[in-house]
Amino acid sequence: MSPSTPTVPTPSAAVEFDVAIVGAGPAGAAAALEFGGRGVRVAIIEKAVPPRYKTCGGGVLRRAMSLLPVDVREAIERECLVAELVHHSPNLRFECRRSQPIVSMVMRDRFDHVLVTAAQHQGAQLFAGTTVTDVTFTRDRVRLATNAGEINARFVIAADGVNSIVARKTGRPALRGVVPALECEVTLVDHAMVPFMVAARFDFGLVPAGYGWVFPKRNHLSIGVGTTHRGAANLPQHYQRYLEQLGISDIRHEERHGYMIPCRPRARMFEVPRVLFAGDAAGLADPVTAEGITGGILSGQLAARAILAADFDDEAVRRMYQKTLDAALLSELRIARWLAWVVFDCPRLRAALFNRHGQRMSELMTQIVTGETSYSAAVRRPGHYWKLLRAA
Ligand SMILES: Cc1cc2nc3c(=O)[nH]c(=O)nc-3n(C[C@H](O)[C@H](O)[C@H](O)COP(=O)(O)OP(=O)(O)OC[C@H]3O[C@@H](n4cnc5c(N)ncnc54)[C@H](O)[C@@H]3O)c2cc1C
Repeated sequence: MSPSTPTVPTPSAAVEFDVAIVGAGPAGAAAALEFGGRGVRVAIIEKAVPPRYKTCGGGVLRRAMSLLPVDVREAIERECLVAELVHHSPNLRFECRRSQPIVSMVMRDRFDHVLVTAAQHQGAQLFAGTTVTDVTFTRDRVRLATNAGEINARFVIAADGVNSIVARKTGRPALRGVVPALECEVTLVDHAMVPFMVAARFDFGLVPAGYGWVFPKRNHLSIGVGTTHRGAANLPQHYQRYLEQLGISDIRHEERHGYMIPCRPRARMFEVPRVLFAGDAAGLADPVTAEGITGGILSGQLAARAILAADFDDEAVRRMYQKTLDAALLSELRIARWLAWVVFDCPRLRAALFNRHGQRMSELMTQIVTGETSYSAAVRRPGHYWKLLRAA
């Protein structure tokens, strides 16, 4: 399947759908794909015109890839079978290898476009260049006001990202645990990029309460820094220091993009009639890795499945979504938050742990991000990280 140019229908009068999905990122596209072939009238409303740039490292973990029901190979720029974890102070380096990709590297414009195009092929109608501006309710419908007219639906899946308009217009409390990150698309002379082209690299201990990453793409590097500290994080300065540590000086081309990652589930998100929040709009990024594509895809799928399984019955749909999201993801994120606290807020403990058990800890993290195990299985099984913690 190759991505075709999306159609841009204009809703002149109010148009009716069974489900309106706001946002054509991984969460929205994954939700739309779940409805394929089920006879459900689905609208995807997206303010940009795909393919659009999205600030993101573009590292799709194997646990995210394995959730996808469609082939996205054409969007993959590089497959990393090696993850390199570097700990500064103490200076430690660990490598984890797999025979299958640990992380598949994409540019999000292409990746998201492949997904949303597949959803269109399965019957979803894309309203591109269409911005949702307001949300109101009738007895059995949600009304979305957009810059191109009104769209009504029996259910809305809010997959509209960290600044979710749907959350704001429905009076949801602001997200907590939103962390800043800086993503830079960097091109070096060819020979200077070679050392970075094989592994997905993660550096801890340089950025306070955060980490840096180098992700190899087809012809450039995505280099970024993020911190769990809020407020004046001064990420450009940390990024500059990171480049120095990496020995990178002669940059041919660089584009910098800063954005936010929501690492704490949204409070009171199951209380809005006929609205289900998914992905960043629901605050579902992993607090350890700050990776949000897995949570986006999984929550989009679960939201759609709840609507189908509970046959559009509002109370039952929301109950089912809450239950399945909690079992599959929220319970995982609760454990991840605890681990994130150890990794980012207790540098001496982290250093002691990695000094004594660095390779095992790195392997365990690799098992989690590939889906070979989960946070909850890791804490349940003897020999895993809580035991390591006690031994530190
Ligand atoms: C610097 C940085 C690096 C990151 N690196 C990674 C990484 O390597 N791997 C990873 O897994 N995650 C990473 N993330 C997190 C990841 O980008 C997000 O978690 C993921 O994009 C969430 O997907 P989503 O579908 O929920 O939202 P989004 O991808 O944000 O999509 C939301 C969509 O909604 C649209 N929209 C917004 N408002 C409206 C509106 N009013 N009307 C209509 N449409 C609207 C937007 O245009 C957008 O297309 C990173 C994030 C940042 C900031």
